[in-house]
Amino acid sequence: MALSTPTPGIERAAVADVLAIGSFAAAHGWTPATSGNFSSRVDDRRIAITRSGVDKNALTPSDVLILNITEPLPPDASAETPLHVARYSNDHTIGMVVHVHSVAATVLSRVAATDGFLYFSDYEMQKAFHGIHTHEGRIALPVFANSQLMPELALEVEALLGASPHVAPGFLLGGHGLYTWGRDRAEAQRHLEALEFLMTCDLEERRLR
Ligand SMILES: [Zn+2]
Repeated sequence: MALSTPTPGIERAAVADVLAIGSFAAAHGWTPATSGNFSSRVDDRRIAITRSGVDKNALTPSDVLILNITEPLPPDASAETPLHVARYSNDHTIGMVVHVHSVAATVLSRVAATDGFLYFSDYEMQKAFHGIHTHEGRIALPVFANSQLMPELALEVEALLGASPHVAPGFLLGGHGLYTWGRDRAEAQRHLEALEFLMTCDLEERRLR
């Protein structure tokens, strides 16, 4: 039986997508102090993902690892990699996963921690989410307690997302930040921008109350 051969062109494209979305998020100030992680699917078994602790303002191809999601993680993988791997493993339509530590995500994850969800209602921007065609109605963004035990946290996240298919394409970690995803880079970036916009609107509304 022929061994499968590496496909460097596909890997290069995934690495380029990681560099592009990471630089985009860094330019918005959503990855302070080397925080945040960005990944892109190469194929059914592999992803490209930022290494631990790299400055997202100055990303280069050497800052991105190619991982097999069916094998143990290498030592230079970020501690947050299991959350990315769990998303790709449990939803085969996902092509990119994005994680940022924005001010809006960090503050609102603390405000909404007790409810377990942050809600957005009647914003036109809700139509930016895949499958949403109206501003009417309420969209729930799940909020989980933060943890340093990422494999256990990934199980908790996947259990809720699997049981709640109609929530927003993302989740918050308390006092930590936002995860979102999409079928490709364009959709992941649109979801990231939409969630950041909606959270910023929510913060502004809370200031006016
Ligand atoms: Zn983080």
